[in-house]
Amino acid sequence: MTRDPPPLSGPVVCEEVVPARAPWLRLVRKDQTLRIVDLEGNQAVDFLIYSAADDAERYSAQDTIAAQGNIFLTEGSVLRSNEGAPMMTLIATSVAYHDTIGGACSCESNTLRYGHHTKSQHACVENFLLANATQGRGKRDIVSNVNWFMNVPVLPDGTLGIVDGISAPGLYLDLRAEMDVTVVVSNCPQINNPCNGFNPTPVRMIVAG
Ligand SMILES: [Zn+2]
Repeated sequence: MTRDPPPLSGPVVCEEVVPARAPWLRLVRKDQTLRIVDLEGNQAVDFLIYSAADDAERYSAQDTIAAQGNIFLTEGSVLRSNEGAPMMTLIATSVAYHDTIGGACSCESNTLRYGHHTKSQHACVENFLLANATQGRGKRDIVSNVNWFMNVPVLPDGTLGIVDGISAPGLYLDLRAEMDVTVVVSNCPQINNPCNGFNPTPVRMIVAG
């Protein structure tokens, strides 16, 4: 499933490549669009949002899933806060669906899943902590996150799979901010399962409007 990204509305105010394994944080103002491009394909982008006005209000997987009655994020999905308010809307995506329930990898979960030798490997929770620390947030501010471009199917018996991705080089998604939000990203460093094709790669972030 490939199509060329449409032109973004409004001037581009930020265009940055997030290196493989790196964190990223930026304010996206109401009505601006954030485009994320999966430059090399099948790269999980772990993603949190906080209200810029009061970061006690933040993305809530539960509110988002309950309001739309679906665990996957597809075109038109509204990312909701813990107060039920729309924070961002997925206005376009060239990947059919994205994950809401797989969570973020951590040194601790890597150790449990893949063995003690993985303890020193960099992980998404550490990226979230590094980025959030610049604004005074800590561990208790990390909530269940979105995993853009990550394929986490739910099997008939209810178990989750982390399987080969459905993204590809150049596929993208566009998010319109419905309030001023702080976006926090971990460009996932995981190398022990297929979420990044066992090879973490860079992604491009573009803010327009
Ligand atoms: Zn990760």
